[in-house]
Amino acid sequence: MTTTTQTVPERAALATARITELLGPDVVTTDPELLLKTSADWSRMSPILQEKVPAGRYMPDAVVRPRTADDVARVLQVAYEHDVPVTPRGSGTGNYGQATPFDGGLVLDLRGLDTITVNPSGTVSAGAGAKITAIDAAARAAGRDIWIYPSTKGSTIGGFVGGGSAGTGTIEHGSTSDGYVVAVTVAPMDGSGTTFTVRGADAMPYVHVYGVTGVVVEVEVATEPAREWVAVYAAFDDWASMVQVHRSLLDLPVLPRLASADPPALVPSLPAAVELDPTRHSLRVIAEASTVAEVEARVLAAGGTVVATFADYAETDRLSSMSYNHPVYFLQKAHPERTWFHMETGGKAHWDDPDAVRAVYDGEVHLHLELMGHAPLAMVVADYVSEEQVLDGIPRLEALGLGVHSPHQWYVDRHVELARATARSTDPKGLLNPGKLVDSPPEDTRVNIGVR
Ligand SMILES: Cc1cc2nc3c(=O)[nH]c(=O)nc-3n(C[C@H](O)[C@H](O)[C@H](O)COP(=O)(O)OP(=O)(O)OC[C@H]3O[C@@H](n4cnc5c(N)ncnc54)[C@H](O)[C@@H]3O)c2cc1C
Repeated sequence: MTTTTQTVPERAALATARITELLGPDVVTTDPELLLKTSADWSRMSPILQEKVPAGRYMPDAVVRPRTADDVARVLQVAYEHDVPVTPRGSGTGNYGQATPFDGGLVLDLRGLDTITVNPSGTVSAGAGAKITAIDAAARAAGRDIWIYPSTKGSTIGGFVGGGSAGTGTIEHGSTSDGYVVAVTVAPMDGSGTTFTVRGADAMPYVHVYGVTGVVVEVEVATEPAREWVAVYAAFDDWASMVQVHRSLLDLPVLPRLASADPPALVPSLPAAVELDPTRHSLRVIAEASTVAEVEARVLAAGGTVVATFADYAETDRLSSMSYNHPVYFLQKAHPERTWFHMETGGKAHWDDPDAVRAVYDGEVHLHLELMGHAPLAMVVADYVSEEQVLDGIPRLEALGLGVHSPHQWYVDRHVELARATARSTDPKGLLNPGKLVDSPPEDTRVNIGVR
């Protein structure tokens, strides 16, 4: 029996004993190594979060590995009865400490829910733990392309919907909040031991809210007829020529799936399929086959060089794995002796006045660009001095007309009020991923950078 005076570990022990009775001994583990691993995510990319939420500071009491949606519903029912916090987790690649179990309790490892079905309508339904690589492969085999996937393509669909935003496909299809999620099946933390399915706009309270409104057990995502995609590498002597081509790609008859651009400083650490000249700017495009000749012509007209093209889907995956946050990660990996941080910013100043953007921070500052619907998204990468230095730069970036999202905090920052209102009924005790839905909601900073 649970009483209010018991500690979280005591209540968690009672809950895990009950879960073991219901679902068998293999479902629960307290292996110290796994507890340590699941105490953190990829927030180590931020020197600020590395200090505030390092692995081992907020430890779960147990990791529970359900195999089915029913298992998840039963685990949540037991956790509810015993007042035990539960933090859902996919592959743990989130950048912001979103999967850190601040109040301990149970980490719910959802990777066992890995079913994938391509529906007659063309959408794909997948268990929350299915890897996006496997979902994409199933869709392609059925002649379909999933709309969007992150550069961490090996992550889970539940984690991408729960904590991700954008990626390959975003130029045309926007973010995970723009119709990508056709439906979600959710296990609420309300003691009911059930699941429910919501579709379309009703799915929004479960998208990018870090699981605080319910554990997603199945996702149905949008697809389109598969296209022939080609990986194009181009190089330029200067930023302006590269930008001339980058921004022009928005008027191609078929929009590219991805267009990533980097200055020379970021080039040597990229794991490209060809040797890239470390003195030149790199533009990498996943272009639809019928547009490749036009992309190449624009590169040449701007004074650039077409370094290589690959009409091979696996090579487009490689380009994707060098997009979004990945160039920052590769730079950090190549220079462990230095400390870099990044800010996520959106707006045309990256194209039009890069020197002004770079001048916001002292020392070496680099801009990695991703093409989005109307303006580029950038990772502004700079030498880390202090948290104060990082935060002081935000108003200065905003003064340049840029939207800014800080990847150095862990709170829910998308449709916060909707999440709060939903959680009142789906998680009345506030047991799901505690600490992420903060009391004074900040403004919706992801909208500022063009990612809804
Ligand atoms: C180098 C690097 C590059 C990245 N590139 C991208 C990118 O291109 N685009 C992008 O959007 N993100 C990117 N990310 C962030 C992250 O990798 C992705 O969002 C990824 O899809 C998250 O999936 P995951 O399985 O690792 O989720 P996790 O990290 O395990 O979880 C993410 C969040 O969702 C919650 N959650 C997990 N599963 C569920 C569920 N079933 N129900 C409810 N909530 C759940 C977790 O509690 C957590 O809050 C990048 C991260 C890194 C480190």
